[in-house]
Amino acid sequence: MDQIKQVAIVGGVHGNEFSGIYLIRHYQQQPQWITRSSFQCQTIWANPEAHHANKRYLHSDLNRQFKTADLANPNLSNYEQSRAKVLNQQLGPKGNAKTDLLIDLHNTTSNMGACLILTQAGPFYNQLAAYVKMQMPEAIISRDEDHIAAQDHALMCTLGRYGVLVEVGPQPQSVLRHDVMDLMHRMTQHILDFVQLYNTNTVPNLPKQTEAFRYLTSIKLPVNEQGERLGMVHKNVQDKDYHPIHRGDPLFSLFDGGVIYYEGENTVYPTFINEAAYYDNNLAMSLNEKVIIELP
Ligand SMILES: [Zn+2]
Repeated sequence: MDQIKQVAIVGGVHGNEFSGIYLIRHYQQQPQWITRSSFQCQTIWANPEAHHANKRYLHSDLNRQFKTADLANPNLSNYEQSRAKVLNQQLGPKGNAKTDLLIDLHNTTSNMGACLILTQAGPFYNQLAAYVKMQMPEAIISRDEDHIAAQDHALMCTLGRYGVLVEVGPQPQSVLRHDVMDLMHRMTQHILDFVQLYNTNTVPNLPKQTEAFRYLTSIKLPVNEQGERLGMVHKNVQDKDYHPIHRGDPLFSLFDGGVIYYEGENTVYPTFINEAAYYDNNLAMSLNEKVIIELP
């Protein structure tokens, strides 16, 4: 039977996302919160240097350095690329990891609430999603490119044999919000509780169907040939993460007074709307479809 013996809770992959950094400190001071009888749980502060600099990263985004090929490439050696290799030694190695489950804690400036992001598919993830949603109905379940093999995923959580991302917002960069911390703590506790139930073969009856959102694509802000922005996210969309966008709905308000409308055939659901961390690549939002996670 599948057993999860080693769990790692990772905070501070991004140095200016404060909730995870402070939550793992809290867990270090009060380890009873992460203690369960059926597994070991450790806490990891992934990128202290970026936090001390009060930045998302120093040289490159740590949460984009975990493709198996990149971890093996000695030419990738800036600070975050080197940190990724150290973390791979400590928690991995990816593909044969000593960590059975990696829980990676993040914040978003977008109005996304408490979001459990799954980057792989399978029965463990489906049961986990159903359990978390049952215990915490306000939680959002997100399936992020879970058709891509783990080795080709660049996210830190794919280092573990299993891995999930807890993404909570809205929280400005370098700020701590009590409500956001509370959501992150509660979702993390439900994940740990589920692992205990899973290991002891005592998972309760779960809903057969759980609503989730599946990532489709990301769209960029309109820019001119010099790369200057021509507009901003439309006020009808701002803060409306997970609200449906239908064909003909406004997406962007242009500085010249114009509006860009959504022209896709299918209704989509936006996430990471106006996320501050994506300023450098002009990403405006991700678009998702609504899906159902089915249990047998
Ligand atoms: Zn992050």
